[in-house]
Amino acid sequence: ADAQFDLAGAIRTIPDYPKPGVMFRDITTLLADPVAFGETVERLVAPFRDIGADKVAGVEARGFILGGALAHQLSAGFVPIRKRGKLPHETVRVAYSLEYGLDEIEMHRDAVKAGEKVILTDDLIATGGTAEGAVKLLRQLGAEIVAACFVIDLPDLGGRKKLEALGVPVRTLVEFE
Ligand code: IMP
Repeated sequence: ADAQFDLAGAIRTIPDYPKPGVMFRDITTLLADPVAFGETVERLVAPFRDIGADKVAGVEARGFILGGALAHQLSAGFVPIRKRGKLPHETVRVAYSLEYGLDEIEMHRDAVKAGEKVILTDDLIATGGTAEGAVKLLRQLGAEIVAACFVIDLPDLGGRKKLEALGVPVRTLVEFE
Protein backbone atom coordinates (compact mmCIF):
# COMPACT_ATOMS: atom_id res chain seq x y z
CA ALA A 1 0.00 0.00 0.00
CA ASP A 2 1.30 3.42 -1.00
CA ALA A 3 0.83 5.80 1.93
CA GLN A 4 1.09 8.76 -0.45
CA PHE A 5 -1.85 7.76 -2.62
CA ASP A 6 -4.21 10.72 -3.05
CA LEU A 7 -7.61 9.37 -2.02
CA ALA A 8 -9.18 12.84 -1.97
CA GLY A 9 -8.16 13.21 -5.61
CA ALA A 10 -10.12 10.07 -6.51
CA ILE A 11 -13.35 11.55 -5.13
CA ARG A 12 -15.44 13.66 -7.51
CA THR A 13 -17.28 16.78 -6.35
CA ILE A 14 -20.58 17.72 -7.98
CA PRO A 15 -21.63 21.30 -7.22
CA ASP A 16 -25.32 22.03 -6.60
CA TYR A 17 -26.36 18.36 -6.27
CA PRO A 18 -28.95 17.31 -5.18
CA LYS A 19 -29.89 20.97 -4.78
CA PRO A 20 -28.31 24.43 -5.15
CA GLY A 21 -25.53 25.19 -2.69
CA VAL A 22 -24.65 21.57 -1.87
CA MET A 23 -21.22 20.21 -2.84
CA PHE A 24 -21.91 16.51 -3.34
CA ARG A 25 -18.94 14.23 -2.68
CA ASP A 26 -19.22 11.38 -5.17
CA ILE A 27 -17.24 8.22 -4.39
CA THR A 28 -18.24 6.38 -7.59
CA THR A 29 -14.98 7.57 -9.18
CA LEU A 30 -13.01 6.20 -6.23
CA LEU A 31 -14.86 2.87 -6.37
CA ALA A 32 -14.21 2.54 -10.11
CA ASP A 33 -10.46 2.99 -9.64
CA PRO A 34 -8.97 -0.34 -8.51
CA VAL A 35 -6.00 1.26 -6.74
CA ALA A 36 -8.11 3.86 -4.94
CA PHE A 37 -10.75 1.33 -3.92
CA GLY A 38 -8.11 -1.09 -2.66
CA GLU A 39 -6.31 1.63 -0.71
CA THR A 40 -9.57 2.80 0.82
CA VAL A 41 -10.53 -0.65 2.03
CA GLU A 42 -7.06 -1.39 3.39
CA ARG A 43 -6.81 1.90 5.24
CA LEU A 44 -10.28 1.61 6.72
CA VAL A 45 -9.70 -1.86 8.14
CA ALA A 46 -6.06 -1.46 9.20
CA PRO A 47 -6.74 -0.74 12.92
CA PHE A 48 -9.35 -3.48 13.16
CA ARG A 49 -7.57 -6.54 11.76
CA ASP A 50 -6.94 -8.13 15.14
CA ILE A 51 -10.00 -7.15 17.14
CA GLY A 52 -12.11 -10.14 16.15
CA ALA A 53 -15.04 -8.25 14.63
CA ASP A 54 -18.07 -10.48 14.11
CA LYS A 55 -20.01 -8.26 11.71
CA VAL A 56 -19.69 -5.19 9.53
CA ALA A 57 -22.94 -3.19 9.28
CA GLY A 58 -23.29 -0.95 6.21
CA VAL A 59 -25.86 1.76 5.59
CA GLU A 60 -27.79 1.72 2.29
CA ALA A 61 -26.58 2.16 -0.35
CA ARG A 62 -22.89 3.09 -0.55
CA GLY A 63 -22.25 1.53 2.85
CA PHE A 64 -23.13 -1.81 1.25
CA ILE A 65 -20.27 -1.55 -1.24
CA LEU A 66 -17.70 -0.62 1.37
CA GLY A 67 -19.15 -2.91 4.00
CA GLY A 68 -18.97 -6.01 1.84
CA ALA A 69 -15.32 -5.35 1.09
CA LEU A 70 -14.50 -4.57 4.74
CA ALA A 71 -16.30 -7.67 5.97
CA HIS A 72 -14.36 -9.86 3.57
CA GLN A 73 -11.06 -8.30 4.67
CA LEU A 74 -11.91 -8.92 8.33
CA SER A 75 -13.42 -12.39 7.81
CA ALA A 76 -16.58 -10.96 9.36
CA GLY A 77 -20.22 -11.19 8.30
CA PHE A 78 -22.06 -8.33 6.61
CA VAL A 79 -25.35 -6.83 7.82
CA PRO A 80 -27.42 -4.34 5.76
CA ILE A 81 -29.06 -1.31 7.37
CA ARG A 82 -31.81 -0.25 4.96
CA LYS A 83 -34.41 2.40 4.36
CA ARG A 84 -37.80 1.48 5.75
CA GLY A 85 -39.74 -1.20 3.90
CA LYS A 86 -36.92 -2.97 2.06
CA LEU A 87 -36.11 -5.87 4.40
CA PRO A 88 -38.27 -9.00 4.21
CA HIS A 89 -37.99 -10.41 7.74
CA GLU A 90 -38.79 -9.02 11.21
CA THR A 91 -37.03 -5.70 11.79
CA VAL A 92 -36.10 -3.08 14.33
CA ARG A 93 -36.60 0.48 13.10
CA VAL A 94 -35.51 3.96 14.10
CA ALA A 95 -36.38 7.45 12.87
CA TYR A 96 -33.58 9.95 12.32
CA SER A 97 -33.64 13.57 11.34
CA LEU A 98 -32.79 14.90 7.92
CA GLU A 99 -32.45 18.52 6.95
CA TYR A 100 -36.19 18.51 6.21
CA GLY A 101 -38.21 16.04 8.26
CA LEU A 102 -37.54 12.47 9.25
CA ASP A 103 -36.46 9.26 7.61
CA GLU A 104 -36.42 5.72 8.96
CA ILE A 105 -33.85 2.95 8.72
CA GLU A 106 -34.17 -0.63 9.83
CA MET A 107 -32.30 -3.88 10.33
CA HIS A 108 -33.32 -7.47 10.65
CA ARG A 109 -33.87 -8.27 14.31
CA ASP A 110 -31.74 -11.43 14.01
CA ALA A 111 -28.92 -9.80 12.03
CA VAL A 112 -26.75 -9.26 15.11
CA LYS A 113 -26.63 -11.21 18.36
CA ALA A 114 -26.12 -9.65 21.79
CA GLY A 115 -22.42 -9.21 22.53
CA GLU A 116 -21.25 -9.38 18.93
CA LYS A 117 -18.53 -6.94 17.91
CA VAL A 118 -19.73 -4.77 15.05
CA ILE A 119 -18.07 -2.17 12.83
CA LEU A 120 -20.42 0.35 11.26
CA THR A 121 -19.62 1.85 7.86
CA ASP A 122 -20.90 4.35 5.30
CA ASP A 123 -19.31 6.48 2.60
CA LEU A 124 -19.62 9.80 4.39
CA ILE A 125 -20.52 11.31 7.76
CA ALA A 126 -22.08 14.76 7.76
CA THR A 127 -24.38 15.65 10.68
CA GLY A 128 -24.12 12.08 11.98
CA GLY A 129 -27.90 11.66 12.09
CA THR A 130 -27.86 8.54 9.94
CA ALA A 131 -25.00 6.95 11.84
CA GLU A 132 -26.60 7.83 15.18
CA GLY A 133 -29.74 6.00 14.08
CA ALA A 134 -27.64 3.01 13.05
CA VAL A 135 -25.89 3.02 16.45
CA LYS A 136 -29.27 2.98 18.20
CA LEU A 137 -30.44 -0.01 16.17
CA LEU A 138 -27.25 -1.97 16.75
CA ARG A 139 -27.28 -1.24 20.48
CA GLN A 140 -30.95 -2.18 20.71
CA LEU A 141 -29.88 -5.63 19.49
CA GLY A 142 -27.07 -5.73 22.07
CA ALA A 143 -24.17 -5.24 19.67
CA GLU A 144 -20.85 -3.91 20.88
CA ILE A 145 -19.97 -1.20 18.36
CA VAL A 146 -16.20 -1.25 18.20
CA ALA A 147 -15.90 1.54 15.63
CA ALA A 148 -17.62 3.48 12.90
CA CYS A 149 -15.64 4.14 9.73
CA PHE A 150 -16.29 6.41 6.79
CA VAL A 151 -14.29 7.39 3.74
CA ILE A 152 -15.26 11.06 4.09
CA ASP A 153 -15.80 13.34 7.10
CA LEU A 154 -17.40 16.77 6.84
CA PRO A 155 -16.09 17.97 10.22
CA ASP A 156 -17.94 21.29 10.11
CA LEU A 157 -21.22 19.37 10.40
CA GLY A 158 -20.26 17.70 13.68
CA GLY A 159 -21.10 14.06 12.99
CA ARG A 160 -17.82 12.66 14.29
CA LYS A 161 -18.21 14.46 17.61
CA LYS A 162 -21.80 13.27 17.89
CA LEU A 163 -20.72 9.63 17.50
CA GLU A 164 -17.74 10.01 19.82
CA ALA A 165 -20.08 11.46 22.46
CA LEU A 166 -22.04 8.21 22.17
CA GLY A 167 -18.84 6.29 22.93
CA VAL A 168 -18.22 5.14 19.37
CA PRO A 169 -14.63 5.49 18.07
CA VAL A 170 -14.65 7.04 14.58
CA ARG A 171 -12.24 6.42 11.72
CA THR A 172 -12.30 8.56 8.56
CA LEU A 173 -9.81 8.95 5.69
CA VAL A 174 -10.56 12.25 3.95
CA GLU A 175 -11.96 15.56 5.21
CA PHE A 176 -13.77 18.22 3.19
CA GLU A 177 -15.03 21.58 4.41
P1 IMP B 1 -25.69 12.60 7.93
O1 IMP B 1 -26.79 11.71 8.39
O2 IMP B 1 -26.06 14.06 7.96
O3 IMP B 1 -24.38 12.31 8.61
O4 IMP B 1 -25.49 12.32 6.37
C1 IMP B 1 -24.79 11.19 5.96
C2 IMP B 1 -25.62 10.38 4.99
O5 IMP B 1 -25.99 11.17 3.87
C3 IMP B 1 -24.82 9.21 4.46
O6 IMP B 1 -25.67 8.06 4.26
C4 IMP B 1 -24.26 9.72 3.16
O7 IMP B 1 -24.17 8.69 2.19
C5 IMP B 1 -25.26 10.78 2.72
N1 IMP B 1 -24.57 12.00 2.23
C6 IMP B 1 -24.66 13.26 2.71
N2 IMP B 1 -23.90 14.11 2.00
C7 IMP B 1 -23.30 13.38 1.05
C8 IMP B 1 -22.34 13.67 -0.02
O8 IMP B 1 -21.87 14.80 -0.23
N3 IMP B 1 -21.95 12.62 -0.76
C9 IMP B 1 -22.40 11.37 -0.54
N4 IMP B 1 -23.28 11.05 0.42
C10 IMP B 1 -23.73 12.04 1.20
